[in-house]
Amino acid sequence: MTKSDNYKFFKPNNYDLPSENEVEKLFEDLYPINRSLTGEGNERTLAILANIVDLKVHSVSSGTKVFDWTVPEEWSIDDAYIKNSSGKKIVDWKENNLHILNYSIPVKKTLISKKELMKNIYTLPEKGNWIPYRTSYYERNWGFCLKENLVKSKEFSEPFEILIDSKLDPKGKMIFGEAFHKGISKKEIIISSYFCHPSLANDNLSGIITASYLFNEIKKRETYYSYRLVLCPETIGALAFLSKHKDLSSIYSGFVISTTAGPGPLGIKHSFMGNHEIDTLTQKAVESVDKEHIKYPFKPDGSDERQYSSPAFRIPTTTITKSKYYEYDEYHTSADNLDFVKSKYLLKSLDAYIKTFEYLEANRVLERKITQGEFQLGKRGFIAFYWRINKSKC
Ligand code: ZN
Repeated sequence: MTKSDNYKFFKPNNYDLPSENEVEKLFEDLYPINRSLTGEGNERTLAILANIVDLKVHSVSSGTKVFDWTVPEEWSIDDAYIKNSSGKKIVDWKENNLHILNYSIPVKKTLISKKELMKNIYTLPEKGNWIPYRTSYYERNWGFCLKENLVKSKEFSEPFEILIDSKLDPKGKMIFGEAFHKGISKKEIIISSYFCHPSLANDNLSGIITASYLFNEIKKRETYYSYRLVLCPETIGALAFLSKHKDLSSIYSGFVISTTAGPGPLGIKHSFMGNHEIDTLTQKAVESVDKEHIKYPFKPDGSDERQYSSPAFRIPTTTITKSKYYEYDEYHTSADNLDFVKSKYLLKSLDAYIKTFEYLEANRVLERKITQGEFQLGKRGFIAFYWRINKSKC
């Protein structure tokens, strides 16, 4: 045999998925935290996930150039509100952190007119009771994100008093988390997800929870490939990881994990190649969990596959989703909350990811050294080899 001489043939485990209660508790602990590209909330988020996986936390200083981007100043916020003409607090950031344009600069104003304030207000006119999620990471701005119904109500009476007690620290940092599992081969599979959104459940929390549990399951096994978990702020964090990683040529393929816990159908977003081994095996795994699923061909949008698949890196990654980003109304609004997601949905996506991992490990091409007759497959544990999908040189 080649490449697996010292390797006990991979056998699928009867793995236990985490309990629904355990996943629910994680959602509840992570949900209220105010996350962004930087800031204290990101540290708290990784500290909670470190209870599942042993994470090494890297930090990159604000102002560091990362390819075409620059790590922004570290953003923090203590308080923000709008008071109406009677002095009543009608918007309170402490009640919902989506109320603030993420990365808002500090602002304090009194006697501000409705006309003036409206220049910095974001609403969803078609969804009167939902708060939109908006950011301004790379352009200095401030703003409030409100329910359209509040803006239309009598309570929204001028003149207003507003406060955004935030800070942008040029001496700050951005963090990302990493964990590594060594396999027989130096070839790596990356498992990447992002944690820069504040209180949003399917698009954001489901991805980091699924990725952490997937890695945790992989860690229990003896594997052929090496596996690397990367939890980072979207875009700039993935680029920081790519700029720090010493040997990108060792990365064979991977998963970009996002939006895994919604009520919609399972979906697969394919890699930029579309016919890479990871595409075939992800497809096979998802089919085994749910025949009814949606296929999304690659597009250079979405999450950090935008970085991994770019010309200098060319790392094929797939994404298994349940209620894919862009495809559900609640996306990037306050309605993507703990009522929208369910642990059992997340566990279904996690199951499909673990199956893909197992297929990937089992999909070996072996070279025979015994040439007299057939191998006795059973005594080598090769029966599971019937899983193999499209290679038949055994
Ligand atoms: Zn998002």
